[in-house]
Amino acid sequence: MAELIIDNVTKRFSDGTEAVRNVSLTIQDGQFFILVGPSGCGKSTLLNMIVGLEEITQGELRVDGQVINTLDPKDRNMAMVFQSYAIYPHMTVRENMAFPLKLAKRPQEEIAQKVNQAATILELTEFLDRKPASLSGGQRQRVAMGRAIVRQPQAFLLDEPLSNLDAKLRVQMRTELSRLQKRLRTTTIYVTHDQSEAMTLGDRVAIFHQGVVQQVGTPRDLYTAPRNLFVAGFIGSPAMNFLPAQLESEHLILPMAKFKLPAKLRDRLPNFQGPVIAGIRPEHFQDVALVGEDKEILPTFKATVDVIEWMGADVYAHFAIQGEINEQLQNLTKDLEVQPLQDSTIRLIARLGAASQATEGDELEIQLDIHKLHLFDSQSGENLT
Ligand code: ATP
Repeated sequence: MAELIIDNVTKRFSDGTEAVRNVSLTIQDGQFFILVGPSGCGKSTLLNMIVGLEEITQGELRVDGQVINTLDPKDRNMAMVFQSYAIYPHMTVRENMAFPLKLAKRPQEEIAQKVNQAATILELTEFLDRKPASLSGGQRQRVAMGRAIVRQPQAFLLDEPLSNLDAKLRVQMRTELSRLQKRLRTTTIYVTHDQSEAMTLGDRVAIFHQGVVQQVGTPRDLYTAPRNLFVAGFIGSPAMNFLPAQLESEHLILPMAKFKLPAKLRDRLPNFQGPVIAGIRPEHFQDVALVGEDKEILPTFKATVDVIEWMGADVYAHFAIQGEINEQLQNLTKDLEVQPLQDSTIRLIARLGAASQATEGDELEIQLDIHKLHLFDSQSGENLT
């Protein structure tokens, strides 16, 4: 078990690419820590530096106070699990799991005992004498985990370990991994590009974009208080809606509604006037037909539903409104993994409860929960609220 400190670490490749820039993170003993971000943001490079597969250009890595920058990977006592599992097809499950202990020349009895113990934890006992080819994807993934567990490393490093599995199995393995980590309480760093994996697995999550950490926090912090437009757009599914807005004295002007800002929001924006970007989570648009009469009166607007996605417990209603999008807004939103603001048609999505009877073509009256609104600086993308 170990606390890992990443202190101002940078990686510059020989071609000048800065894959990781001045990253500082503290991963506490026993924590399940997630590095998440879109493809190419530098998360695998950071993991490779931690395990020792990649040299650090600048900065320091410390485990329990000891600098490990120049230690050989084998001396770092960390176990890495890759997306491809890297298990040997010609070996049985037992031999695969025993392999790292054999390499370390551990005694036969110890090897047998540790393999059996890991097989019990991972429910692989009945498969110990099989070859990987006769196992399912999920079982192979567990063999790869088993091989990491037997070493009793001070940290597990997992690089997209579930991405070769189908959607259903991925969700199932996600729960298994979470249970396993809680049981073993070994410090775990998990890399993924999938925000839902990050949110469901992590004690703490660091969001990466272009080699830079954008925000570190609990999943709840990241969802409810995103620091900037990137984090707001990356976390949450369906993604947060963004629309151009204007602050004029105490009022916020959206393309489809103008209203007085709630005092709590206004107090966070002293003297702020002018253009901003408003961010609204899909669940903060509500179908007025479903809102009880005793509820607070909130701003409403009418919109025609163009697509309905029925999800069982949820109904997603897509609609569009008209608004002015200038070049600055286009630039700010274009590298988000959300619908960019790019012409005068702003596409929005509302997450209505399962009780909604909305159908395509309906003109819906939609209510906006202004207490949950986020406002972002239209130049820096920083969250002002
Ligand atoms: P993915 O999810 O697609 O694996 P990632 O977030 O893990 O992406 P990295 O693999 O860490 O990203 O890559 C970060 C950046 O560094 C990318 O722009 C990549 O092209 C670049 N890069 C990675 N390895 C090298 C290398 N050996 N030389 C030069 N550039 C590299």
